[in-house]
Amino acid sequence: MLITLQELELHRIVVSKTYAPGALDYHGAEYRQGAPLQVNGIAELVGPEIRIRGHLDTRIEALCDRCLRRTEIPIARDFDLFYRSVKTIARVEEIEIPEDELDIGFYEGEGIALADIVREQVILSLPMKIICRPDCRGLCPNCGADLNRGDCGCPPPEANSPFTSLKGG
Ligand SMILES: [Zn+2]
Ligand SMILES: [Zn+2]
Repeated sequence: MLITLQELELHRIVVSKTYAPGALDYHGAEYRQGAPLQVNGIAELVGPEIRIRGHLDTRIEALCDRCLRRTEIPIARDFDLFYRSVKTIARVEEIEIPEDELDIGFYEGEGIALADIVREQVILSLPMKIICRPDCRGLCPNCGADLNRGDCGCPPPEANSPFTSLKGG
């Protein structure tokens, strides 16, 4: 779905779309959609800018950074975005927009692809560190066992201290 300036000059556009898992390309990222993504919103012109606001919901499947177990992250995000045509950059100073936390993007050509907006919003929603649960114990650095399933029996990390390796070498 392309949200075009031409159409917005005639009327607002109501956005309501579902992207099935796999429909959006996350560019080979280490996660994928685990559920359909539903996006609802409104696109309209505010001066020369395209404003798109709405809400999206989905679930993302990714591997826990600590224990590598597959984990699901619920995504629910409100967005309120402004886009300027690259052609209008020279006139930006004349345009008055509220200053609070505005995300301003640029578009080239006819308009903006909804899929690009949605994909970007999903990526922005993901936490920096993905963990399956706050107290995930991760993998043993020695044998690779999942420590959430119990101790693996390896000696505690102190056994690998620099002091020990100096003595051994
Ligand atoms: Zn984990
Ligand atoms: Zn171990």
